[in-house]
Amino acid sequence: MRYVFDQGEILDESKVSVSIRNKGLNYGLGCFEGIRAYWNEYQKQLFIFRIWDHYKRLNESGNSLHIQVPYTPIQLIKWTIQLLRQNNVREDVYIRPMCFKGANTLRPDLTDPFNRVTIYCTAFEYKPKPALKVCVSSWSRTGNNMIPPQAKSTGNYLNSGLATTDALLNGFDEAIFLTDEGNVSEGPGENIFIVKNNRLITPPISDNILAGITRDTVIQIAKNHLFLSVSEHSLSRTELYSADEVFFTGTAIEIKPIINIDHRKIGKGIEGDLTKKIRFHYENIVRGNNPHYLSYCTPVY
Ligand code: PMP
Repeated sequence: MRYVFDQGEILDESKVSVSIRNKGLNYGLGCFEGIRAYWNEYQKQLFIFRIWDHYKRLNESGNSLHIQVPYTPIQLIKWTIQLLRQNNVREDVYIRPMCFKGANTLRPDLTDPFNRVTIYCTAFEYKPKPALKVCVSSWSRTGNNMIPPQAKSTGNYLNSGLATTDALLNGFDEAIFLTDEGNVSEGPGENIFIVKNNRLITPPISDNILAGITRDTVIQIAKNHLFLSVSEHSLSRTELYSADEVFFTGTAIEIKPIINIDHRKIGKGIEGDLTKKIRFHYENIVRGNNPHYLSYCTPVY
């Protein structure tokens, strides 16, 4: 996909560059989003899922981090639609907006006012397995007094990268973080849910998670369509092992069952019934096939 957005312009990607002196690159001083748009073949339409919520979160991340985004969510939505049109996207696509310190200076302070915004879109290459075997990581989730976990900051993904790499090198598909206090937090790029006795439980924001947009959609599906009780409370590692079902949620991974944790079978060791039902609703909603959620699906054409 040839065209990208950089500082208020849509340009051919070959015209865009970042200096090796760039401060955002050198110190991880940036925030970003991951947004998906889904192609609906029947309607010949591309729907961007919850774009408003993603750009609202980008602005909130920027505010927490002293990396204020120099555009409003409405402006960014307009640019994104224009970018997708100019690339003539007619397939599922991943959209990556980023706001990072644009100066080419030393010292990792955040006082410099130049915050550069870029957006690119790409066909989705990351194809996770349909069901995951995961481990609890020896790396803790970054705490609130280290890097704000509710801000989606580029620097914080070194924490995610270390946990993911250890998991992969040890033969697992993905990792689960605990907080420093030992509560279940989230995955390196996903939120986590368990099902226990027909109740859905997910860690609260205060357990250092990113307030996931997929997590919020799943809570709505569980309450509105499956009439399940949903609670946000701290979970222990043992509650993971003894859960009936466990699954990850996230824009990239969507809804993904976890069938094994630390070499312990979860439930029957296959995708659970409730996970499957939630996944089914989610896949319909994001593609613009559920009329109750059309306000979440922004048409591009
Ligand atoms: N936690 C982390 C650390 C993430 O990177 C993501 C992906 N953005 C999520 C949770 C899930 O968030 P969302 O559902 O908004 O994609």
